[in-house]
Amino acid sequence: MKDVALHQAVGATRGGASTECAADALAGIEARFEGAYVHVPFCFHKCHYCDFYSFVDSEDRQEAFVERLERELSALAPWVRAPLSTVFVGGGTPTLLRPPLLARTLRAVRERLGTDLRAEWTVEANPETVNEEVAATLAASGVTRVSLGAQSFDPRHLKTLERWHDPASVGRAVALLRAAGIGRISLDLIFGIPGQSVEDWERDLDAALALGPDHLSCYGLTYEPNTAMTARLRRGDFEPCEDASEARMLETACARLAAAGFRRYEVSNWARVRDGAPRAEECAHNMLYWLDHDWLAAGPSASGHAGNVRWKNVPRLGDWLASAGTSPVVDVERATPDMQAGERLMMGLRLVDGLPEAEIDAILSLGERGAVRARAIARAVGAGLMERTDGRLRFTERGMMTANATLADLV
Ligand code: SF4
Repeated sequence: MKDVALHQAVGATRGGASTECAADALAGIEARFEGAYVHVPFCFHKCHYCDFYSFVDSEDRQEAFVERLERELSALAPWVRAPLSTVFVGGGTPTLLRPPLLARTLRAVRERLGTDLRAEWTVEANPETVNEEVAATLAASGVTRVSLGAQSFDPRHLKTLERWHDPASVGRAVALLRAAGIGRISLDLIFGIPGQSVEDWERDLDAALALGPDHLSCYGLTYEPNTAMTARLRRGDFEPCEDASEARMLETACARLAAAGFRRYEVSNWARVRDGAPRAEECAHNMLYWLDHDWLAAGPSASGHAGNVRWKNVPRLGDWLASAGTSPVVDVERATPDMQAGERLMMGLRLVDGLPEAEIDAILSLGERGAVRARAIARAVGAGLMERTDGRLRFTERGMMTANATLADLV
């Protein structure tokens, strides 16, 4: 569970044989890539709710992974026309890479793709993988932001999720990262876990806030197809959290985090407000996704976006390792204007700031689908879930609570 799985959200995995590679998908595309997403698929253990491409690698292919990644990044380099402003290394668990290999990975991104001096560099980490050496490696490699998968501080709920870390390891990781000089720490939390009460969730929020993070992502637990957790749910092994309880948890998060000086800027994301730089802690990389900008993708299963083209690298480590040049891809989508309009609404309206009304009106004038969307938006405005203010269309505070359902109507 991570920032809306955005870096994996482009296209469904068909998983069939592919003859196309990312270079084919990008042929003739005029894109200005502002960021890069790098996927490291290794995990210590497969959490039961997780549907990311990640696995326990019994063959220890870390070195082969880094060698192939270096070649992939070199093959992608000609598409980078200006220094990147964001890099996000996610997974999987990037910090499971042995420190020399982690350093090599980060160096390869910097040297082969080229980054802006002020670039935001995020690496995802599992709290138990962070030790002094890993923290020092991240800092020495220029990482500016670490996103830690805390999920819960209650051992019962971690066990339900089949997360294996000790809750105390989150605080230890934060302290080590801060001591190494990492300036920005984000914590991921999950609510709506079976058996979790609103009071349990309040304790999780308090425990997270006590660590002084700069950013928090709070996701309601989702039951993705083909996960062990969903299979257990279907077998009737547990009762899911009730909708009303989950809604109260989200309200609690909004109230607690606002009182602690955080601003909700996206459906699931809150950033600490700093004097003089009120938006400095928002995740610049994820903003690329929400604002429909272009980013490159490297590593198995990573998804990229350029203009109207979206592609997904092959989600099989063996196939990816065996390939040359850019990665083979399993999904290439050339979005029609209607699809682009739907995506723009789905992603842009997730932001608390919403989208400019002029752009919305242009989208709503697009044919029959535009008329359907216009009616859906009019219904949401009429119900007090959305509003048109200051030249923008956005969710109201109440509408934000059910934003996902409203957005589903629009696309
Ligand atoms: S650590 Fe993250 S990526 Fe790995 S299995 Fe768990 S949720 Fe999935």
